Amino acid sequence: MLKDEDRIFTNLYNDLGPDISSAQKRGDWQNTNEIIKKGKEWIINEIKSSELRGRGGAGFPTGLKWSFAPKEVGSRPHYLIINADESEPGTCKDRDILRFEPHKLIEGCLLAAYAVNANKCYIYIRGEYFNEGNKLQEAINEAYEKKLIGVNACDSGWDFDIFIHYGAGAYICGEETALLESLEGKKGQPRLKPPFPALIGLYGCPTIINNVETIAVVPTILKRGAKWFADIGKPKNTGTKIYCISGNVNNPCNVEEEMGISLKELIEKHAGGVVGGWENLQAVIPGGSSMPLLPKKICETINMDFDSLVEQKSGLGTAGIVVINNDQDIIKCMARIARFYKHESCGQCTPCREGSGWMWRMLERMAKGEASKDEVDMLMDVTKQIEGHTICAFGEGSAWPVQGLLRHFKKEVAKRNNFNPLVNTNKKIPYLVDQHLLEK
Ligand code: SF4
Repeated sequence: MLKDEDRIFTNLYNDLGPDISSAQKRGDWQNTNEIIKKGKEWIINEIKSSELRGRGGAGFPTGLKWSFAPKEVGSRPHYLIINADESEPGTCKDRDILRFEPHKLIEGCLLAAYAVNANKCYIYIRGEYFNEGNKLQEAINEAYEKKLIGVNACDSGWDFDIFIHYGAGAYICGEETALLESLEGKKGQPRLKPPFPALIGLYGCPTIINNVETIAVVPTILKRGAKWFADIGKPKNTGTKIYCISGNVNNPCNVEEEMGISLKELIEKHAGGVVGGWENLQAVIPGGSSMPLLPKKICETINMDFDSLVEQKSGLGTAGIVVINNDQDIIKCMARIARFYKHESCGQCTPCREGSGWMWRMLERMAKGEASKDEVDMLMDVTKQIEGHTICAFGEGSAWPVQGLLRHFKKEVAKRNNFNPLVNTNKKIPYLVDQHLLEK
């Protein structure tokens, strides 16, 4: 369990106030100038040795990402972008940072921007976070007034400006290249990679894109030292993490804990336990809706870090933990998630555009008990044809929850649809796509 003195977000529940004087009392904006004086290379190396991995979902090493930015500024300016689009169902951690710990984020923006040679930073916030955006803007104004950002930020000789940009509510704009398109005023559709944004990003210029939580922990790491951060958790899965726990728990909450804490401890100690008791647990989605669910048996022992969850064919993602108890119809839950992804596909790639609707319609039939065994096998096949065959990771995000259902709850699907999962019928499937719609 995380010790209180190791907590980074000491105002996660707004007990102490988000304003600048309260934030400074908590240690924000202290020694910022001295850190900048240590130089860009020192900052990047320190973040590398802390083994900080991106908190937005992919878990890419942050220091390594920063090192991809060109060392010298050429004819094109560099940009830092903060991804505050936070649209993954089950996730609401960045929201609390934006409204309760905005100065950690702003200070982190200055330090990260300096390290990657950027004088300008855009914070892309989802449109629904209007109030959070206002709070952040207040904090940015405070930082300007105190000359912590702006011309000669923190008396460091570095000029630094921050702008907030509101998205219009599309999930896909959380994908970094779709975010760039949206920021440029275009339709928010992902770009093909390479080229990667670190070399060709916003307006064709070198751009580093990081999640809110990733950047908000940077000042504390640089002040307390990479070793301190790396000593929390386990190798390659270091530091603290804000977990969002929702669903069938008695006390849904956001909580900062050490990376690698056991899932059971998180649910039992921080979220007040499963509604109906631990024995009433059916499954948990561990990292936001795009990560495959885990059945109760695995939830008993699993630890919440990147590598432990990958071993169980799931992922830490955004650490949005959704608890599903036995009162829920698990097939219906997954059909609802599939509907979300069908709605949010940007439509550029055929496997994602067509496959996401296909999966949703099949799951709807399965939830009603109208599917054949062959159709269940075909559903798995459809997920495999989407996975790895699309421009962006949304394809995987839509296919993985379905794979999780079929991996762990095939018996339930078989029971509902009256077939024996062990017998191969090889029956012809009379319809695949439109029956559900025709019925309407
Ligand atoms: Fe768009 Fe889906 Fe292709 Fe991503 S995978 S680019 S969301 S169609």
